[in-house]
Amino acid sequence: VSAPYDLVIIGLGSAGLTAARVAAGELGLRVAAVERDRVGGDCLWTGCVPSKSVIASAAAAHSAAEAAHLGIDVGPASADRRAVWGRMATVRAEIAAAEDNAEAVRALGAEVFVGTARVTGARSVVVDGPEGSTEIDCRFILVCTGSRAAIPAVAGLADVDALTNETLFTLDSPPGAIAIVGAGPVGVETAQALARLGVEVDLIEAAPRILTSEEPELADRLTRILTADGVRLHLGSAVTNLRRVGDDVGIETGAGEIASSAVMFATGRTANVEGLGLDRLGIVATAAGVSVDARSRTIVPNVYAVGDAAAGRAHHTHSAATDAALAVRDMFLPGRGTAATLVPWCVFTDPELAHVGLTAAEARERFGDRQVKVHRQELESVDRARIERRTDGVVSVVTARGRIVGAHILAPHAGEMIHELALAVRFSMSIGELAQVPHVYPTYATAVSQLVATHEFRRIRRLRGLARLSRWTG
Ligand SMILES: Cc1cc2nc3c(=O)[nH]c(=O)nc-3n(C[C@H](O)[C@H](O)[C@H](O)COP(=O)(O)OP(=O)(O)OC[C@H]3O[C@@H](n4cnc5c(N)ncnc54)[C@H](O)[C@@H]3O)c2cc1C
Repeated sequence: VSAPYDLVIIGLGSAGLTAARVAAGELGLRVAAVERDRVGGDCLWTGCVPSKSVIASAAAAHSAAEAAHLGIDVGPASADRRAVWGRMATVRAEIAAAEDNAEAVRALGAEVFVGTARVTGARSVVVDGPEGSTEIDCRFILVCTGSRAAIPAVAGLADVDALTNETLFTLDSPPGAIAIVGAGPVGVETAQALARLGVEVDLIEAAPRILTSEEPELADRLTRILTADGVRLHLGSAVTNLRRVGDDVGIETGAGEIASSAVMFATGRTANVEGLGLDRLGIVATAAGVSVDARSRTIVPNVYAVGDAAAGRAHHTHSAATDAALAVRDMFLPGRGTAATLVPWCVFTDPELAHVGLTAAEARERFGDRQVKVHRQELESVDRARIERRTDGVVSVVTARGRIVGAHILAPHAGEMIHELALAVRFSMSIGELAQVPHVYPTYATAVSQLVATHEFRRIRRLRGLARLSRWTG
């Protein structure tokens, strides 16, 4: 039995790495961190980093194909998909070498244990590692074990080697044709990127539209863009059966069979909670995650859970990291570390689709129809978009009782633009208050100032008489 630690962190992904940095690096606490696989977790190895690396290559291919419209003839662009996958692996390795590694965590002052952790008591964790089991005593436990791809129990699954985000990025290169099941963020991003890299893509979705958490109008516009990219969309098509057809896979849906070289499931996530032993402490932990309160505490007050492993929390790197820091704050400092309730996000398609706060329908449900207004600015009258020939997009801001409660952007760099509107939601600003800072011209963010100007100019129109009166009053 080792000396007691202040904190044991289970899982060194986005949340665990931040928790180690705050608890060991900043607060100088005695911290043990346990990782059973690769430091960096889903985001570095199977999620954000590989997907966005591939998306960067797909964007380059698309720019090359579009360059002639800007007077640059680069000839027909061809993607070397093996090189794209090789570059993606290099990017991951660079980040792992720079900061997401056990040595960097030790340099913060934490002790790193390699192995699988299980919680054996409110203040004890056992690590089953290559050299046997170690028991660790501690004051607090932070469960941040993440999630993995959830594959529905479809008949015939055992006969095909179905891919997920965990296996797609371990290949030397992607298949030449793929059917992706699930048109959520992972499915949609992967479908567009692969199509732009010359892969034949079928995207199959049981719901009648893609990206069901997004503002429907923006999701529908993105649907048209995906189709123009060559993605074959099968909406309202639930997969019922899989079968091997020679070297191909037959994917049966209610609406007919789709054949492709490979099938990938992007059908949601399952929390990594099995084997943690939380049930023995009376803590509820299901496929949806560990039950926690607003401070990320389980019913055992010194056992916390954050990130993808916590039930009801957004599945993003930024929210996992923020909530990890807030949980450490809640454990060791006076006051409360309540988990982030307003989390912006972005689907990294081209154009990007970013989201913060309520959709118009959600706002109407909460505040009533009459209180809600939607303010829109099309990119077709935004100069930067005209200059770059990227006018297919819109900024949509939802207000309720005159305060901004949501914003949805379909635009190049929407993931960057959303933060100004996230602050506006966070501080319940009015549209008029956004006008207090001029926006740099010509940026895509001028779409926000144009939206604000339309609103404000309509208001000052009412002051026409007063303005004319000034001819006589001075
Ligand atoms: C394809 C894809 C693209 C994505 N893109 C984005 C994006 O662009 N932006 C974004 O914000 N989010 C993105 N995400 C989501 C993001 O990757 C996750 O939300 C984030 O990684 C969650 O962090 P976490 O710390 O909760 O879990 P993880 O980062 O997965 O870390 C969990 C760690 O715990 C370890 N572990 C599990 N059980 C045990 C145990 N018993 N003992 C020891 N160790 C254990 C695991 O090995 C793992 O290293 C993407 C996800 C996917 C699948």
